[in-house]
Order: sequence, then structure tokens, then C-alpha cells
Amino acid sequence: MRDNTINLSDKFSKIWIDQIPDNPYLLLTPGPLSTTKTVKAAMLKDWCTWDNDYNLIVQEIRHKLVNYATNKSDQYTSVLMQGSGTFTVEAMIGSAVPRSGKLLCITNGAYGDRIVQIADILGIDSIVQNSTELGQVDLQLIDKNLQNNLDITHVIVVHCETTTGMLNPINEIGKIVKNHQKVFMVDAMSSFGGIAMDVDILQIDYLVSSANKCIQGVPGFGFVIAKTEELEKCKGNARSLSLDLYDQWQMMEKSNGKWRYTSPTHVVRAFYQAMLELEEEGGPTAREKRYRTNQKMLVKGMRDLGFETVLPENCHSPFITGFVSPTDESYSFNSFYQTIKKEGFVIYPGKVTNLESFRIGNIGDVHPQDIERLLGVIKNAITWQ
Ligand SMILES: *Cc1c(COP(=O)(O)O)cnc(C)c1O
Repeated sequence: MRDNTINLSDKFSKIWIDQIPDNPYLLLTPGPLSTTKTVKAAMLKDWCTWDNDYNLIVQEIRHKLVNYATNKSDQYTSVLMQGSGTFTVEAMIGSAVPRSGKLLCITNGAYGDRIVQIADILGIDSIVQNSTELGQVDLQLIDKNLQNNLDITHVIVVHCETTTGMLNPINEIGKIVKNHQKVFMVDAMSSFGGIAMDVDILQIDYLVSSANKCIQGVPGFGFVIAKTEELEKCKGNARSLSLDLYDQWQMMEKSNGKWRYTSPTHVVRAFYQAMLELEEEGGPTAREKRYRTNQKMLVKGMRDLGFETVLPENCHSPFITGFVSPTDESYSFNSFYQTIKKEGFVIYPGKVTNLESFRIGNIGDVHPQDIERLLGVIKNAITWQ
């Protein structure tokens, strides 16, 4: 019988974890983000990539990911891939879309544009539906595009467009995509694990995310949750050796959690700890609640201080929010940033093309009391009005 008891043998005592210094500042960014000391401590052991102790952790991670994603876990599988999130997006697109395929890219921000760029570089025939950074996805246009281009085989959209914090309506998009019987792919990089969702109900065939976003691990790998019957069709599709999602999947399936090529062992172990902490918190539903509380407090507090959000309320996600920069000439992002950083918070520059803005993320080991303290710091940093 296969021994599937995970041998962690690296549990640290509380005294030991208390020795880890506090971070000089909290990251209010969309990843990498602030992690717990217990997640950091989990990285202090070396693992052998061939050894069962390690591979069983990989298998458990794969199993847990599918279970976070859906109740129909028997119909889905997961694959981990080395690199930052973009590497896994590229692996997913390059492995899922066959040579004869055509991709409809729905975009309203920098991450959607990056998908278009990936498709171009991989030589994948594609159509772009761009509603601009501040525009909402035009659902009727998706329907029209699918009607007028019968050769489209795959449709891809970003769930939370981290450029602005816009949450795109993947439920409605999925229905249209499936009416036309196309394969549906979602970049849920900055949302998965931080919002309750079921890929089966949402009719998602491929969902991609990474270790250092809402599951609150450290950076080093990404993962795809895929409908097994779709992934099974992808042999030989990949345009890259190292980013072949199908081959990586086959290796993990056939060799009990082994990766092709060196895997980020410490990062993987830390991710497993992050998953245990997500479960302790109450899973994605509970985490969504904390993130929503953070985000609502942030928006209310910032509005009270005279700031305006980049997007209207109905487009907000619980993860990151864009704010319009003050127009007063005494404001500069750099000095605002430095003042806030000195007080223990790192915020994020804006990414909207024709609007001066900045962003504040509230994912990671970030709690309402942190947001409250941040608002006090920002109040003191205001040199205008
Ligand atoms: C973070 C992120 C990615 C991946 O970015 P990397 O820097 O490669 O990790 C992709 N899409 C979205 C929406 C993201 O937020």
C-alpha cells in the first residue's frame, strides 16, 4: 500500500517563530504580498525533489487546489508550473490552444493586454475585444464576435483586472462562451482563493493563478486548474518545451507529484503552509469576507479624506483599489509613497494610461486594524487641501 502520510518534520515551536523579525513595512500590493511568519518559517528546510516526502506535499497541494475550485472535483485536475504567474498563463495558452485554434481575448487592462501579447508571440491566431482600461466588458459584443467568427475555439478573460481592480463578470461571460460551445479560460491570478467560486458552475475549462496572491504564499510558481477532459486533448500542442502544461501534468500524474525539471521546493512547502492557514481561516469564503471588509473600510476612509476611486463601486473587487491622484501641485506620488513607507506601508503606483492614479491592495496578511492605521498615516501625509 502507498504510504501517503505527509512527513513534514519541520514544525517549528512558537518561540522559534517569534524570533523572525517583523517586516519593516506591510505590502499593500497585489503580490508578492505580506505573508505570515509561519509561512516564512516553512521555508527553512531543504527538500529533495525526487523524494516521496516532497512529492506527497505536491500531490496534496494539487488535490486541495481542485477542492478549493469546485465541488465537482472528480472532473477537474491541477498542474503546478515553475516561474511567476505570467509563465503559467503562457504555459496554459500555449498548451491549450491547438495549432488550428483561434483565441478570442477579452481585455480591459494591462493583464489582458499581456495575454494578447503572449498569443502574438506564440503565433496563435486571435481576435481582441478591448473595452479599454476603465470600460466594462461588453457582453453583447462577445456574443456577436462568436457569431461572426465561427473559427474561434477558445475565449480568455481576466477575472480581477489588477490594473484597476475591476472585477469582470465571468459568470455571464461563461454562459455566452458555452452557448457557443467554446473552451473558456480565466486568468484568476489576483482573485483565486480570495473569493468563493466554483469553476464547474462558472463553466471554466482552465483557470490560472499563482502562489503569491490570495492563497498568501511566496512567489515562485503558478498553477492551472483544468477540466480533465479538456487537458487530455492537449498533447503536443505546446510551443515551448519548459512551458508544456500537458507534459508537466502527465509527469505529476504518472510519477506521484514529480515536476519536470527543478521545482521551487521551499516555495512549495511554504505554499502548503499557506493552504493550511487558508483552511484555518475558513477557506475562500471567509477570506473573501476579510478582504471585503478591508476594501470597504479602505474606500470609505479614503473618500472621507477626499480621494476618489478610479472605478465606480459596482466594478470594485475585494482585492485592490485604484485611487485618482490629487491634482494639487504639492502632491507627488514619490513623496507620498515615501512618507507612507516610513510609517510601515508600501502602496502601489497606478497603471491606468491616461489617468494619474495609485493603487492600494488589501490582500495578504492584512487585517482591518492595519487598514485603520493606514488611514491615519495617509491623513497625516496629506499636504494639500
Ligand atoms: C499578478 C498577475 C499576473 C501575473 O503576474 P506575474 O508578475 O507574472 O506574477 C497575471 N494576471 C493578473 C491579473 C495578475 O494580477
